[in-house]
Amino acid sequence: MVDGAPLRKAVFLDRDGVINRAWIKNGRPFPPPSPADFSLLPGVAAAVRRLHAAGYLIVVCTNQPDVATGRQSREAVEAMHAKLRSWLPVDDIRVCYHIDEHDCTCRKPRPGMLTGAAAALGIDLGRSYMVGDRWRDIEAGQAAGCFPILIESDYSECRPDPPFIRVSSLAEAAAFIINRDTHNESSAMPSVHGLRVKIFADGADLASIERLYADPIIKGFTTNPTLMRKAGVSDYEAFARKVLTIVPDRPVSFEVFADDHGEMETQAKHIQSWGPNVFVKIPVTNTRGESSAPLVRRLAAEGVQVNVTALFTLDQVREITDALHPEIAANISVFAGRIADSGRDPMPIMAEAVEIMKARPKAELIWASPRELLNVFQADAVNCHIITATPDILKKLELVGKDLDQFSLDTVAMFYRDAQAAGYSIDIGRCAAE
Ligand SMILES: [Mg+2]
Repeated sequence: MVDGAPLRKAVFLDRDGVINRAWIKNGRPFPPPSPADFSLLPGVAAAVRRLHAAGYLIVVCTNQPDVATGRQSREAVEAMHAKLRSWLPVDDIRVCYHIDEHDCTCRKPRPGMLTGAAAALGIDLGRSYMVGDRWRDIEAGQAAGCFPILIESDYSECRPDPPFIRVSSLAEAAAFIINRDTHNESSAMPSVHGLRVKIFADGADLASIERLYADPIIKGFTTNPTLMRKAGVSDYEAFARKVLTIVPDRPVSFEVFADDHGEMETQAKHIQSWGPNVFVKIPVTNTRGESSAPLVRRLAAEGVQVNVTALFTLDQVREITDALHPEIAANISVFAGRIADSGRDPMPIMAEAVEIMKARPKAELIWASPRELLNVFQADAVNCHIITATPDILKKLELVGKDLDQFSLDTVAMFYRDAQAAGYSIDIGRCAAE
């Protein structure tokens, strides 16, 4: 984990009987006999995606003692987990291959798999959940300090000791978890200080860039030709160089303005030469809809830090992620706000984009075109790395956590002031006469 980063919430999941169908023999559950028999239970994929999109790390913790007893090979278990990773957004899979006689620290009901994952991934166990179908899962969750949730079964074996809650499926567990935390967190005071998402300022006016650079909450800057035109910028390079004297040590994006990929390449290399903190914005296609992926691949291979912009779909995210270089920093800007303008919820798209981009750990996802301050918290919830914010949204940061009764009073006072200032009046006498 990153030193100093806030701890994350996780949902620990048992495997057999929770994620995949278990084989029942003599009233007791067993793992599927082979990878070909490994299949998800109904509703599991949607439930895991929902939890993941809500910001929970998904960690599978499974006892597989049949490996120690020789009833199943380790290769078979690993093949099942390769399937699991291809089907679901899991952050980690921890396996205990021991039997009780080995007296290990990982076999549930001992909490070693949970505490090990917590140390490795930076998990706050006290805000995390353990979902299982057997007493061993529940007691491991209790021992780790997590909130235990038992999926009810008719297994012929002992039941765990309280405390835990019972549900009928992983889908029900996911709904419970999200509902419980939404309730707890909505009554808590939101704060900008707990945010992991980095806020970049979107702008093209030197005075405000200078003012924002003085604010440590602003971790970088982006510009675009539309904003620069509005700000009256005429000499592009002179403007960019002035920006870089104000901001010498945080990322700044400048966009190419050609429409031909060859010209974009020449411009990109020139723009990159302006400074080590420069990211070159490349539109995902040109105006003819031709993909910029081959250009991005060439630039990234030459060490140019790109910020590929105007992405709207996960297919575009996949194509551009693949074109990036594993060793070179890059940004991908997905226009979450414009996606929302089309009536679609951008959160699941952004959550999935984060997953796709894990193939290039030096690349960061930007939540672009935000529409309201809440988007900063939504971006944070789906582990999006960066959000660009316009001055309108940045101004609202001071309202985060504001007391709602006071906010109500201020709003009433504003209506009154404005009505007074406009000189509105209602002629009561005339109404009464009619
Ligand atoms: Mg189980």
